[in-house]
Formats: sequence, structure tokens, C-alpha cells
Amino acid sequence: MRISQLFGKGKCVFSFEVFPPKKNMPADTIYNTLDSLKDLNPAFISVTYGAGGTNGDNITCDIASHIQDKMGLVSAAHLTCVSNTKADIDAILDDFKAKGIENILALRGDINPERPPKHDFEYASDLIAYIKERGDFHISAACYPECHLDSPDIITDIKHLKEKQDAGAEHMMSQLFFDNSHFYSFLEKARIAGITVPIEAGIMPVTNKRSIERMVSMCGASLPSKFTRIMAKYENNPEALRDAGIAYAIDQIVDLAASGVDGIHLYTMNNAYVAEKISAAVSGLM
Ligand code: FAD
Repeated sequence: MRISQLFGKGKCVFSFEVFPPKKNMPADTIYNTLDSLKDLNPAFISVTYGAGGTNGDNITCDIASHIQDKMGLVSAAHLTCVSNTKADIDAILDDFKAKGIENILALRGDINPERPPKHDFEYASDLIAYIKERGDFHISAACYPECHLDSPDIITDIKHLKEKQDAGAEHMMSQLFFDNSHFYSFLEKARIAGITVPIEAGIMPVTNKRSIERMVSMCGASLPSKFTRIMAKYENNPEALRDAGIAYAIDQIVDLAASGVDGIHLYTMNNAYVAEKISAAVSGLM
């Protein structure tokens, strides 16, 4: 099923994101996680593509096709273009097609100094237009409630976001944020700019202090004082920090669902326990 068909039914779509195991980890770990996530019945599960193409073989495709074929759920495969040539992308798209992948989150990817850009595609909009030409896939794009780090300002960023819709993106998923007011303000600007496709809000529960700090420094999300107080109080108590992180994410989701957002995209961090707790608390609200 194409992801945009999930929207417009008077419900808030609730979807998950997982990432492939690191190269030195057994492949089974992700399949065990997916077994637990299946019972939570997400609208779809998206699978990330190794940053800079580091695990850019077919593992993303294999996991996305497992979600569809073995679990009976809708999946989306992420795909970045910065380190790929057109020939690389053609081969990946052929693989996606052969394995029945319908939904792609088309991204530029972060510029990795160890893997110089290939320049066949400068921006995600170039990749979106290229995929669209083939006509085989439903395309999603990424958006940034607090502005993408490379962008001079949010208005310029939203102008480029609109180019992704114009190139063929039919759905958007947002970068994580910890203050819903940023998302609401972004949404208002995006709608004024003529972005009409469904936009899901990206929510990442805090599960441990180090991973959140790394993530935040990479994506530039701001930390409200309510959030930093939690990190400061529970930083030496992993269980309490995890529970407070779950409660914080639930609080964000309740507010977003009550405000009528199109959907919530939960960055599960492959942590089925956290996804279960959050789903149990919010599934009746969607
Ligand atoms: P783009 O849309 O190309 O934007 C990148 C920058 O270029 C922005 O600042 C934009 O304003 C600017 N820009 C766009 N078009 C133009 C133009 N014509 N002229 C000038 N400037 C322009 N990374 C991974 O490696 N793997 C993943 O699986 C992955 N999944 C993600 C999932 C989500 C939901 C999100 C939000 C991000 C994800 N990322 C992933 C990170 C993403 O690759 C980075 O944020 C990357 O830096 C930007 O990708 P993009 O597709 O948004 O790029």
C-alpha cells in the first residue's frame, strides 16, 4: 500500500522507524525487534539507509521487504543520494522493485567527509524527480521543524521543501523535536507556502543521555528547559531516565494528536520496550 493512502481517514497515522543492525552486530537482532513491534500494529515501519551509504548494500531493502512480506505491514525504505551515482541508484531501485518495495523516503543524506559526494544528485529534490520519472514508487521526503542545519533560515528551507513536493513527494516525515511549538509554527509556514501533502511529526523518546546528545548535536534540535531538567535529574539513573523519556514522548504525542496533526513518526531506536510503552499509552488517542 502507498503511504499517502493511509491519510485522510480522520485518524492520526502512527508509524515507526527502525535502523539496520551495525555491520558487527548479528542480523537477527533487528528481526527480533520487528517481531515485538508487529503486535503494536503501526500504520507503517520505515527502515533507515546507512548514513553516507555506509551500509548501502541491500540490507535496508531486505528489512523493508521482510516487514511487508513476512509481517504483513506497510514498509518504507529510506534512500540517500549524496554518495550514489545514477547507476548506483538505478541498481538500488531495481532491487526495490524486484522485492516489491513501494514506498521510498528519498533523502540527500548528510555529507560525510570520508565519502566525498558523487554530484549526480545535489539535493533530495533531484533524487525525488529521478525516482518519479520511473513511475514505480510512492515517494516521501524529510522536513525540519527547526530548519535544516545547512539552511540560512526556515523560510529558505521551506522554499526548498516545496520543491520536494513539486518534484513528486507525496508525504513528509519530520526531524525530531522536543518542543511542539516548533512543529506547529513550521506547519503553519509550510501550509502557507503551499505544501499540501500529509506531514508526520517525528518523535524520539530519550532512552539514554549519550545517544540523545549525539543526535541533537547532529540535527540541531533545541532542548526546552523541561527536557534538560529531566536529563540532569536522571542522567545517572538509566531506568528513571528511560521512564521519564517515555513520559515526555507520550506528553508530546498527546498534545500533537489533540491538535489534529496528520501523523506521528516514532523513532523507535530499535527499542521495542519503549515503543510498547508509548503505543499502549497513545493508541486510543489516534
Ligand atoms: P535536502 O532536502 O536536499 O536538503 C538539504 C539542504 O539543502 C537543506 O538545507 C535544504 O534547504 C538545502 N537545499 C535543498 N534544495 C536546495 C537548492 N535547490 N538550493 C540550495 N539549497 C537547497 N540520513 C541518512 O543517511 N539515512 C537515513 O535513513 C535518514 N533518514 C532520515 C529520516 C528523516 C525523517 C529525517 C528528517 C532525516 C533523515 N536522514 C537520514 C538525515 C538526512 O539525510 C539529513 O538531514 C540530510 O542532511 C538532508 O537530507 P534531505 O533529504 O532533507 O536533504
